[in-house]
Amino acid sequence: MTDPDVVVIGSGPNGLFAATALARRGFRVLVLEANPRRAGGAVGTEALTLPGFRHDVGAGFFPFGQTSPAFRSLASDGPGIEWLHAKYESCHPALDGSVACIARGEGLAAAPFGSARDADAFRKLARFHAGIESDLLAALLGPFPSIRPLARLGFANLWRVARLLAASGRGLASRLFESEAARRVLPSLGLHVDVGPDDRLGAALGYVLGLTATTGGYGVPKGGAQTITDALVGSLERNAGSVRLGARCKRIVVRERRAAAVVLEDGTEIAARAILADTSAAGLLLSLLDPVDVPSWVRASMRRFRQGWGTFKMDWALSAPVPWRAEAARESAVVHAAESLDDLSRFTRQVRAGQLPERPYLVVGQQSLADPTRAPAGRQTLYCYTHVPSRIEGGWAAAREGFADRVEARIEELAPGFRATIVARHIMSPSDLEAGNANLVGGDLGGGSNAWNRQLLFRPMFPYFRYRMPVAGLYLCSSYAHPGAGVHGMCGYNAAQMAARDL
Ligand SMILES: Cc1cc2nc3c(=O)[nH]c(=O)nc-3n(C[C@H](O)[C@H](O)[C@H](O)COP(=O)(O)OP(=O)(O)OC[C@H]3O[C@@H](n4cnc5c(N)ncnc54)[C@H](O)[C@@H]3O)c2cc1C
Repeated sequence: MTDPDVVVIGSGPNGLFAATALARRGFRVLVLEANPRRAGGAVGTEALTLPGFRHDVGAGFFPFGQTSPAFRSLASDGPGIEWLHAKYESCHPALDGSVACIARGEGLAAAPFGSARDADAFRKLARFHAGIESDLLAALLGPFPSIRPLARLGFANLWRVARLLAASGRGLASRLFESEAARRVLPSLGLHVDVGPDDRLGAALGYVLGLTATTGGYGVPKGGAQTITDALVGSLERNAGSVRLGARCKRIVVRERRAAAVVLEDGTEIAARAILADTSAAGLLLSLLDPVDVPSWVRASMRRFRQGWGTFKMDWALSAPVPWRAEAARESAVVHAAESLDDLSRFTRQVRAGQLPERPYLVVGQQSLADPTRAPAGRQTLYCYTHVPSRIEGGWAAAREGFADRVEARIEELAPGFRATIVARHIMSPSDLEAGNANLVGGDLGGGSNAWNRQLLFRPMFPYFRYRMPVAGLYLCSSYAHPGAGVHGMCGYNAAQMAARDL
């Protein structure tokens, strides 16, 4: 390719959605990816444990895979992604034998949810949500502010949503439900990122993840998360774009106050009319740009930038399915380990205090239950993450095996006999995650903190919340931009619309 019109730095889902959107409009797009082995960033699949076992290295479940406008644009272009589902999308068992489950559509009628009254309350909420989901998601995922979808929602629905979400996770759960089993469901989904059950305005994320699971569900792509990346790269290439692996960008060249070119580690300079960065916000504004090109107050703000917590990720090759005590957990794509709201609060306090959580809250993925292609016949894969402090005394290299044993002990409590099914395990501490993907700063999977005051017009910082950066022709298109973490592709898709307009 001669000099492209557009360079995208980074091939995570946001970088690739940005690239495909621009390539489809006729721009010549080149994506530069630091990883020498594969595109996709935190959306990829590798044989982490043993040959024949396909493990998702980052994202494993895709609540927006069938609903986000970016994914819908991909579906109309080339071979689609085959979405698979288990009987339940998410199961929340506890040691006392209580259980609550989220299922999609018709399946919700028979899903246990603490008590009969709570199951009924959740079904009613799911019916309300189904009626407003497309406008709500358009409002939440589009460039902020998304006036038109908000107007389509109408005053009565907006008022009801605002009343639901103007609360902490604990506040909303306690208002809606009577049983502890039901109450732990939505706040435990907020903890996919750094939103604790007692955090101000923390109800929103649990609501979105919990209720979208009742419509599109937590789809599992057949063959692994890598098939999403492959579909995106395929779409890019069909539109004359390309991805170059092993190409880490070291510097962005600014000429006459415009982003003019990128310089790779080996010194190669590539000129472009627009540059989209699927990078961390601080990485872009403090490292890739020369200090003279960034206002000093922007640099000062980036030095104070608040990252989310670290992530501790494990994968196992198993000889048999996990023997959960709770029957429903044996049929669920995702299982969340947390006893109660208080258990979630204790976990949050410990991570925030820089301590290793005594009883880690767990997000456990059972992809191979829905997708047998992930493991050799009769075998299973298992995926799990929890949150931890990014840095700990003595370093992660010394602590990782011991903490991994603690994670296994928590699963064993809920599924006696689990340890006996383990054939191999693979561990990624926060430092391992960051070493493999520079965007996962300190193991933060959320593109910076997802607290309420780090969202909307504060993401990544005011006034740069609409993808344009302080240098003309330069855009931030990663999850550090609105609407933030998760594989919806909308940070990239929205940034591409801005760049196309400017070009
Ligand atoms: C363990 C884990 C579990 C997760 N689980 C889920 C889940 O189940 N569902 C969900 O929706 N989301 C999940 N997420 C979050 C989701 O994966 C991210 O929000 C999403 O991948 C962000 O996409 P991105 O394109 O912004 O960045 P990333 O996916 O992080 O990709 C960034 C890419 O840019 C490259 N890059 C960075 N700097 C440079 C440079 N200077 N030069 C060249 N290349 C560069 C990196 O190598 C990387 O490939 C998870 C994330 C992790 C880590």
